[in-house]
Amino acid sequence: MAELAAFSDSYAEARRKFVDAARRAGAKLASYRHPDERGPGGEPLFLDVSVLGPGNASRIFVLGSGTHGIEGYPGSAAQRAWLRGRPRLPRDTAVVFLHAHNPWGFAHKTRTTEENVDLNRNFVDFGKPLPANPGYEELHPHLALREWSEESIAGLFATLDAFRERVGEKAFSDAFNGGQYSHADGVFYGGARPQWANGAFRAAVETHLGRARKVAFIDLHTGIGPWCEHVYLCFHPEGSAARERARAWWGARAVNLQGVTHKKLATYSGTILDAFAEMLPGVEVTSVVVEFGTLPRRDMQRASLAQRWMRFEGPRDPVLAAKVRREYEAAFYPADPEWRSAVLAQSKEFIDRGVAGVGAW
Ligand SMILES: [Zn+2]
Repeated sequence: MAELAAFSDSYAEARRKFVDAARRAGAKLASYRHPDERGPGGEPLFLDVSVLGPGNASRIFVLGSGTHGIEGYPGSAAQRAWLRGRPRLPRDTAVVFLHAHNPWGFAHKTRTTEENVDLNRNFVDFGKPLPANPGYEELHPHLALREWSEESIAGLFATLDAFRERVGEKAFSDAFNGGQYSHADGVFYGGARPQWANGAFRAAVETHLGRARKVAFIDLHTGIGPWCEHVYLCFHPEGSAARERARAWWGARAVNLQGVTHKKLATYSGTILDAFAEMLPGVEVTSVVVEFGTLPRRDMQRASLAQRWMRFEGPRDPVLAAKVRREYEAAFYPADPEWRSAVLAQSKEFIDRGVAGVGAW
């Protein structure tokens, strides 16, 4: 299927396709280059921004990809395919695509930044005491597997299951993936300082969205939800106008957690959605996360643990690390053509609905 050419095998390929599609669509482009880091082939790394429509529009639909590095591959394909669909915009409306929020993770095919930081836990105020996560403190010594074997993984999951039964689903999610700021070699680590990608995102938002009055933002992710389906995570409070807009544009599923494969979502610290709204005081913001579902939650937890093991223990056993990497990449970026077609069909629909919603707001 020709449409699957929207997908890429490397960051450099994805960036080239995105920039090309944006130019052909008539969008203006801006780039923020990482000053220090490069991709595995020595390629430079960028947050790229495309602006389609009037630069002074008061209504803007924003779509971001790659907050979690490797999750940017399907996100980038969705952005590229939509730009190539000869989009027509409502009056006084612009569409801004942010390509590769975390280009280091994108290029190196991992969720985290060059400092093992989960960018979606990094938007906290580092001038204040960082959020404590006592549950994670308890789990970390078990999570930090030195050997990667089916036996050691089964032992770890037995520990996690016992912890979850003791504290409940919500406290388990908070501990495991809510974010932690104490173990740089752990999982869902929020960092000890703002990442370069944090600053680049802020600069892009200030430059391209500061004059808008009404803004919608979808941050694209992968890994929560059933295979071949997308799910919405909406964090606007019950009864808020923003939440009602999300419901009006994308249906009840935008706010009711339909299809979400976590029994209870964690209370996340330092997310990009929180930062986005804080950066735009006086602007009406409606924001959601859209996740393309892949594997069941346990497999995704295993992938998070694999990522930590590959980074900190993998160099001692490169053959095993290569095998673990294949499993890891398949969890976040499936090669299955049916899965990839679903990403394109579903993303076209929710982007079109978002643009129409902002235009008619
Ligand atoms: Zn993600």
